[in-house]
Amino acid sequence: MTSIAVCPGSFDPVTLGHLDIISRGASVFDKVIVAVLHNRNKQPMFTVEERVSLLCEATKDLENVEVDSFNGLLIDYVKEKKANAIIRGLRAVSDFEYEMQAASINKKLGPEIETFFMMTNNHYSYLSSSIVKEVAKYNADVSDIVPNVVAEALKKKFK
Ligand code: ADP
Repeated sequence: MTSIAVCPGSFDPVTLGHLDIISRGASVFDKVIVAVLHNRNKQPMFTVEERVSLLCEATKDLENVEVDSFNGLLIDYVKEKKANAIIRGLRAVSDFEYEMQAASINKKLGPEIETFFMMTNNHYSYLSSSIVKEVAKYNADVSDIVPNVVAEALKKKFK
């Protein structure tokens, strides 16, 4: 059986913390689909198309990684893609409560699909897209926490 995992998120924008989770996932699963959520509750800095394009560029060397976007319920998307797993990253205890709720409801809605949590790499435990946007606003150097293509895109946004 081919193992396919969906790695969902906002990726607004993708950071090296995300890439770490994606590449580690890609070394375990046959295929990883990075899926950008059209999230109506959040006001994003980058459009879904921009986020997909930044992710495509950032993951271009990972042969078994695909980038896509989706609307609606994650579990429906996972089933549509015939995936058998969801990958999520955990940074701190603060991530845990939400992730436990999401994994529980996903288990109820799709008992055949497993959620796998990957512990953040210590280097990136503090790293989030929000922090990146906050510091990039003040022209701080973000080149060691985001892929180059994202550092360039942030420069353009704040020019
Ligand atoms: P969401 O809005 O769904 O949390 P994010 O884009 O913030 O989307 O994150 C997508 C996934 O990547 C989540 O599982 C999140 O926990 C994980 N993630 C984000 N940053 C890091 C990091 N620095 N280390 C490990 N996992 C991370």
